[in-house]
Amino acid sequence: MSAHQDKKAGQADTHPSTNDETIVTHAGRSSGHFGAVNTPVYHASTILFPTLAAYEQKATAPVRYGRRGTPTTMALEDAISTLEGAAGTVLTPSGMSAVTTTLIAHAGPGVEFLISDAVYPPVRAFCRRLNEQFGVKTVFYDPCIGPDIAALVTDRTRLIWMESPGSHTFEIQDIAAITQVARAHGVTTVIDNSWSGGHFLKPFRLGVDIVVHAATKYIGGHADAMLGAIACNEDNLGKMRKAISDFGLCAGPDDAYLVLRGFRTLVTRLKQHNENGLEVARWLEAHPLVERVIHPALASHPQHALWREQFTGASGLFGFVIRCRDKAALGPMMDGLSYFGMGSSWGGFESLLIPVSLDGKREATRPAWQGQLMRIHVGLEHPEDLIGDLDRALERLSMADSGV
Ligand SMILES: *Cc1c(COP(=O)(O)O)cnc(C)c1O
Repeated sequence: MSAHQDKKAGQADTHPSTNDETIVTHAGRSSGHFGAVNTPVYHASTILFPTLAAYEQKATAPVRYGRRGTPTTMALEDAISTLEGAAGTVLTPSGMSAVTTTLIAHAGPGVEFLISDAVYPPVRAFCRRLNEQFGVKTVFYDPCIGPDIAALVTDRTRLIWMESPGSHTFEIQDIAAITQVARAHGVTTVIDNSWSGGHFLKPFRLGVDIVVHAATKYIGGHADAMLGAIACNEDNLGKMRKAISDFGLCAGPDDAYLVLRGFRTLVTRLKQHNENGLEVARWLEAHPLVERVIHPALASHPQHALWREQFTGASGLFGFVIRCRDKAALGPMMDGLSYFGMGSSWGGFESLLIPVSLDGKREATRPAWQGQLMRIHVGLEHPEDLIGDLDRALERLSMADSGV
């Protein structure tokens, strides 16, 4: 399980658990550090070796230079590997750098990428630049394409990128069907698994090669640390370790510590996000000003059956469309919120609400919704308070929107 750690605390090595509740409690812990339960924050660049012989053998030392990992970052890598069932994990300073490092590691002259049209929007912008500067061609595909992705694979296709549910529009992808096609053609598959926190979806079991996380979101979970993770199967670990080394990427020790601390409560938090999110989603679905709710755990979601096949739960992030003729009415609606904050990111303990636009963010598909799309992150507050806040917000909207 662990190349890095010295002896594990407790029973983790002798009775490895397959339950995520136990994994997040025990994975990545070691019995060093004077018995401290948590691996301390190691601030280190230079690591000293006691003898010349030891120095000359430094390539095999578990810790040899700060950029190449410290006990703090290695503990988090081990923890994420165990949760995902990966051969190994590398950390990056943000989710975005995990994404771009993975893409660059697969780029090359004449190479083609197949990228879900519902990808996290900055990824689309990066792919455009990869094309302009290095000639890497990107084809954006309908996230609901399933096995028909075979028609888009050419002998230049090197990588298929998935994100499920999709950013903003929450389409569920048929991961197993896509990885089956990819394997038949020798194409590497990657999925951004940030939405599930690594708990509700297990991509390696569905044949995925590389799992990327914005650990900034649910794994960290407290809206205070930036971190990315690239979890790899055996075939891809060496390549991704090399890419990290080439770019000189390393996670800051304080952020790694904070994210590992968040990791310990990941499953407990996600269960509550799941429960609160569904309660809020069901309330929204019954509201007359809500055109539709886009939540994969609701029977009204177009890929609800597929979601049930692949996922064991839903996190707190979903979408809904409101009837709003005059965009100016959004101001009074949003400005009076008590509990929902407005800001980028999600996955922290707190609730967020923002209007989103799909302009410039879709090429292969375009949902035909009328109205204003909203993205909601349901946090750990009592759902009654959140529903009250939304009820008052929609009341302000109806007062301000002359068109309703
Ligand atoms: C936020 C996000 C990222 C980027 O993570 P950062 O840590 O903000 O760089 C990547 N993928 C998805 C799906 C995200 O929501």
